[in-house]
Amino acid sequence: MAEKCFLCGEKIHTTFLEKIQGTYLREGKKLKALCSTCQKKKQ
Ligand SMILES: [Zn+2]
Repeated sequence: MAEKCFLCGEKIHTTFLEKIQGTYLREGKKLKALCSTCQKKKQ
């Protein structure tokens, strides 16, 4: 199942190991998916 980036709404592709090409941000008990593009913007 594809995750969507919580910032831009783009689908985040996963690697064959089911890792997302991006990162997760922890917010409370929830994990928010962030695509690699938005990840770079945040840095
Ligand atoms: Zn994004």
